[in-house]
Amino acid sequence: MVAMMKAESRHEQPSFGATLWDGIAGRCPSCHLGKLFAGYLTLAPRCENCGLDYQFADAGDGPAVFVILVTGFVVVGLALIVEILYMPPYWLHGLLWGSLAILLPLVLLRSFKGVLIALQFRHKAEEGKLASK
Ligand SMILES: [Zn+2]
Repeated sequence: MVAMMKAESRHEQPSFGATLWDGIAGRCPSCHLGKLFAGYLTLAPRCENCGLDYQFADAGDGPAVFVILVTGFVVVGLALIVEILYMPPYWLHGLLWGSLAILLPLVLLRSFKGVLIALQFRHKAEEGKLASK
């Protein structure tokens, strides 16, 4: 069964949405069943289902950059909207947006890392190498 799934996973290209969902859910980008993570952000050494070695996976600073951009957009946008509509005291702004600026990255970071690794697997992205003759 596992050998058959390995053969299928090599030839089939999942849809872009399925790739994104694998990353968000933290599942193996090859078989879509095994776990990608062994901890909160720590990758498992390989897929427990199909045996895919996760050595190829290196998201680098990408997830943090996207999380910073998204969090900044959401927090600043909501702060502006709330200020324009309700004009709450500054201590309430600090409480609301300070909490959201801490919690939102904690929620998003794992999903963004999973998505970038799933996209890396889908597009076979790897470090650039000079062609040798
Ligand atoms: Zn797998």
